[in-house]
Amino acid sequence: MTETSKIFAVARKQGRKSLLETEAKIVCKEYGIPIAEFRLVKTEADAVKSAEEMGFPVVLKIVSPDIIHKSDVGGVMVGLKDSKDVRNGYKQILQNVKRHKADAEIVGILVQEMAPQSTEIIVGTVKDPQFGPSIMFGLGGVFVEVLKDVTFRVAPIAEDEAREMITEVKAYPLLKGYRNMPPADIDAIVSILLNTSKLVMDHQEINELDLNPIMVYEKGAKTVDARIILE
Ligand code: ADP
Ligand code: MG
Repeated sequence: MTETSKIFAVARKQGRKSLLETEAKIVCKEYGIPIAEFRLVKTEADAVKSAEEMGFPVVLKIVSPDIIHKSDVGGVMVGLKDSKDVRNGYKQILQNVKRHKADAEIVGILVQEMAPQSTEIIVGTVKDPQFGPSIMFGLGGVFVEVLKDVTFRVAPIAEDEAREMITEVKAYPLLKGYRNMPPADIDAIVSILLNTSKLVMDHQEINELDLNPIMVYEKGAKTVDARIILE
C-alpha cells in the first residue's frame, strides 16, 4: 500500500474528509510535488529542537482537523528567526487558537522551513460531476482572489496542455521576470501540474485539492501550504 492510500484510509476511518496539512504534504511528496520541509511537534522544546536542526528562519503552524483556514485563527507565524521567536510563537499560536476556536482538537504544531518570498502560484483541482477531476492554475494572491485570473483543464493533462495553461493566464508575463524578479522556473510548474493530474487520476476519491501558495523560483519551486478534501 502506498503512503497516499494509507493516509486516505486513516482519514476515512477517523471520519475526516479534510486531510491535515502534514498528511496532504506527504501525499504531495509521494507524487513528486516539491514541498517546504516540515516536522510535526507536540511540545515547545521539540519545536525549538526541530527549528535548530532545520535552520532559521522557520514558520510555525497549527495542525488541527477543526481548522481549515489557519491564518484566520492566528494559526500561522512566519519569519521566526531564533529559538526565542519559536518559543514565543509556539505559545502565541496556541493562545490565538484557543481564543478563536476553544474546542478545536490540536494535533500539534508544524515547524516548517521558511521558503524565501517569490512569485506565488496556485494549483488546485475540483471534481466536476460530469467531467471528473479538473486542474486549475493561476498566480497567487490578488490574481486569483480579486481578478479570478485562473485557467482549467479536465484531467488527465499532457505536457503541452500544462504549458498552455501557464501561458494563457493574463499574469503570465510576470512569470517571465519583471523589475527585480527573476524569471520563474516554468518546467518546475509544468511538472507540478502533471504530478497533480496523476495524483487526482490515481485517486478519484479526492474531491478538492489546493496547493496555495507554491513559491516559484528561478530554479525549482516549493509548496508551502497543501489542502486535500476527500469525498
Ligand atoms: P492558510 O491555512 O491560512 O492558508 P498557509 O499555510 O497558506 O495558511 O499560510 C499563510 C501564508 O503564510 C501563506 O499564504 C504564505 O504567504 C505564508 N507561509 C506559510 N508557510 C510558509 C513557509 N513555509 N514559507 C514561507 N511563507 C509561508
Ligand atoms: Mg494557504
